[in-house]
Amino acid sequence: MTGGFKHSQCCKHYHGRFGPNGKAVRTCDAGVNFDEMLAGRKPIGNMPCIRDPGAPSCPKADYPTPEEAAAIDAAIEASVQRSFKVAAEVVKASKRKPGSGTIPCPACGKGTVHYSVSSYNGHIWAKCTTPECVSFVE
Ligand SMILES: [Zn+2]
Repeated sequence: MTGGFKHSQCCKHYHGRFGPNGKAVRTCDAGVNFDEMLAGRKPIGNMPCIRDPGAPSCPKADYPTPEEAAAIDAAIEASVQRSFKVAAEVVKASKRKPGSGTIPCPACGKGTVHYSVSSYNGHIWAKCTTPECVSFVE
């Protein structure tokens, strides 16, 4: 990953505007309502949540310190690397043939990765039994 959007530059209370289920999220963890904060702006206005210089100020904004930001970036990078490792093993095990199966997790070495390969587009879904290990759709 190079430049651009970084999670470590986000307000700690911000977790995106859409939840895992694809539903719009109305407020951040601090209870700030996005629509009220962005009142009078375009629906996708500048957000103080992502340190946008043109954004309205948010009284609850709380950005990570440089140390915390570095830790967040390192954690994201590590999780990306884990996903790459697991994806490579799943491709080897499945040969990208549609279906599902399990492999010992190459990332954490403890869990079991459950995977499935879509018969529709060949996309791979994988999730380790270890919480906080890998879970992705490729
Ligand atoms: Zn694992």
